[in-house]
Amino acid sequence: MRAILKSGPGRGVELAECPSPKLVGAQDVMLEVSACGICGSDVQCYLGEERHLAGMPLPVILGHEVAGTILEVGGDVVDFVPGDRVVVESLAPCGGCEFCRLGMFNHCERGTRLGHTVDGGMAPLVAVPGSALFRIPDSLRFDHAAVLKPLGVALRAFERAPLQPGETVAVIGPGTVGLLAGMIARASGAAAIAIIGLERDRGRLELAASLGLTPVIDDPLDAVRELTGGRGSHLTIDASGGTGTLGLSVELTRPGGSIVLLGISGEERVSPAAAIMKELSIHGSLTRQPGTWQRAIALLAAGVIDVEPLITHRIALEEVEAAFEALVAGEGVKYVLEPNGGS
Ligand SMILES: [Zn+2]
Ligand SMILES: [Zn+2]
Repeated sequence: MRAILKSGPGRGVELAECPSPKLVGAQDVMLEVSACGICGSDVQCYLGEERHLAGMPLPVILGHEVAGTILEVGGDVVDFVPGDRVVVESLAPCGGCEFCRLGMFNHCERGTRLGHTVDGGMAPLVAVPGSALFRIPDSLRFDHAAVLKPLGVALRAFERAPLQPGETVAVIGPGTVGLLAGMIARASGAAAIAIIGLERDRGRLELAASLGLTPVIDDPLDAVRELTGGRGSHLTIDASGGTGTLGLSVELTRPGGSIVLLGISGEERVSPAAAIMKELSIHGSLTRQPGTWQRAIALLAAGVIDVEPLITHRIALEEVEAAFEALVAGEGVKYVLEPNGGS
């Protein structure tokens, strides 16, 4: 089969002929991939960032935002049958380590990472552990289901720091996760939602405005104060992965408010004094939990969140390299690969 392979260090990926996957474990499941989203971390991988490539046993097939149909199940799989429509948790937990046993699956110490430590879903077929699957309803399109994984990342932020209806939110970073966080805030009854980006994010911020969010490029502190009656945001979500955004988050947030850190950024220099004086709560937020998946699926199935406006490109395997270059240039929002052709 043909698949998108990261075969060595440095920039680039290749569309290569690869052996078809096999069902090795009795717990494994073979999927026909209908849709696979391109994630920001895939772009880091494309660029050859060393921090990202560390721990990847190259060559490896990329792709970890997978939705598809089960073709075959291993002998010990009891919860799924061929024909089931599913999405895949890319961090397949081991089930036995201390954190798995505590139900903290996103902190598993021994699990596999789809499209990172094991071959992923930028391919017509992929083998995954049955324990990593969630069933999706027939009414949910596969291309939309491929956005469930980043939706889970955004939803996790609100598990870490709950939002009350009528409160105000600032989101830093108008990428897929930031836009989804803004959409969740809107659906949750936030009174005002600022979404903060840079000059090069202008296109994404126009999309944000069409989703009912208030786009901000210049003077974010003034803009958020104006939007929040001079007080600052109750909840600030940093989905940017930028530099200096924790300091900005502390400035944006009102006394007693919360900050959730989603984007993995570089070095930060923050004065703790401002956070102390405001009694801010600062939370890290990592991937998702099984319950997050269930609620993300329910949000799409019920039509509470519509990811259609975020999917700017549906592409074939031959178009993936060009898509990576376009993403590096900041074009579009969500690219969904359809390795078996569109639905
Ligand atoms: Zn990812
Ligand atoms: Zn584990």
